[in-house]
Amino acid sequence: MPPCRKLSRSFSFLFFIAASCNAALPDDFLPPINNQTQVSMNQETPVGKLAQNKATWSIAIHGGAGGEPGRWNEQQIQDRLDGLKAALKKGTDMLEKSASAVDVVQAVVQVLEDNPNFNAGRGAVLNSVGEVSLDASIMDGSDLSCGAVAGVTTVRNPVGLARAVRDKTPHVFLCGEPADAFAKEMELPLESPAYFKTPEQIKSWEAWKQKQAAAGGKTSKNDHAKGEDRLFYLGTVGCVVRDQQGNLAAATSTGGLLGKKYGRVGDSPIIGAGTYAKNETCAVSCTGVGELYIKHHIASAVSSRMEYLNESLNASTKFAIHTTLPVDSGGLIAVDANGNIELQFNTPMMARGQAKSDGTFQVGLQDWAK
Ligand code: ASP
Repeated sequence: MPPCRKLSRSFSFLFFIAASCNAALPDDFLPPINNQTQVSMNQETPVGKLAQNKATWSIAIHGGAGGEPGRWNEQQIQDRLDGLKAALKKGTDMLEKSASAVDVVQAVVQVLEDNPNFNAGRGAVLNSVGEVSLDASIMDGSDLSCGAVAGVTTVRNPVGLARAVRDKTPHVFLCGEPADAFAKEMELPLESPAYFKTPEQIKSWEAWKQKQAAAGGKTSKNDHAKGEDRLFYLGTVGCVVRDQQGNLAAATSTGGLLGKKYGRVGDSPIIGAGTYAKNETCAVSCTGVGELYIKHHIASAVSSRMEYLNESLNASTKFAIHTTLPVDSGGLIAVDANGNIELQFNTPMMARGQAKSDGTFQVGLQDWAK
């Protein structure tokens, strides 16, 4: 049985600044870092088997749980906030017009993939041989239909290719060159390596390379999970939605971890680990040290705790991020059938945003804007 099927069968799971939609950044916008940050829009809300409040919608996005205040200047911070706002705006505009959850998560993630300030599509981190290797997945909670791609190098929007796998094949997961060939067959926009490799990521890779050389080429098994290094490595994009029809969907896209071994695949394209959606429970998109998210099948574990233990979205996401996973390993965004949103992370920051049909619209890196 292919590994992805095994996984889907298993017990299937910011230098944070805040800015309100239109607010300018105050001079002292950086609040103290709190390694145990928890953000919840809701009180404990038990989720029933069927969605209520049909005409409402909710959306959450993330732009990675990595980053560290001292490493970005004011312009870089503003660029990230602007990128989050643009993506969230795209999603809210579509949701107001009754777009389907699966269409919205794809469109929003594509906006983030096109933005060179995030580690997905253009601007993705480089692997051990200095190349991009992109992973993405998408899942529709109404029927569990899903698609994923790993290790692609030519497709401008990997999440669009994941969507094509869902829509146009009987399969769930394609990887490597054949997946790129499928993108060509589907006439999806393709790009040369120069498009994906931004000067900022080339600089980061060179710094990583020097560090490797200084360490004699040796990396310990857990290097990516270590505080200082971890801050340098993470940053993926994702979106979860509850649409006006009550359907849920999730999508995640990433370049993975800086300096990752050639051929390495993380959690982002693995249904149940980095992405999961089921109308009866929740939609989840994760960001963090992928190996840990795979081992603990985090995205589907959140759903399963709700389904089997009758936990609320708040309780199940807190358990995943603050009990199951070690501090400094990442975060997740989730929305439930009633439109409640959770944004949990155990890192100093998670680039994120949330909006609801009640007028809520917020983006931030460390905390929400005042
Ligand atoms: N989870 C991603 C991976 O391990 C990285 C990230 O979220 O930044 O590939």
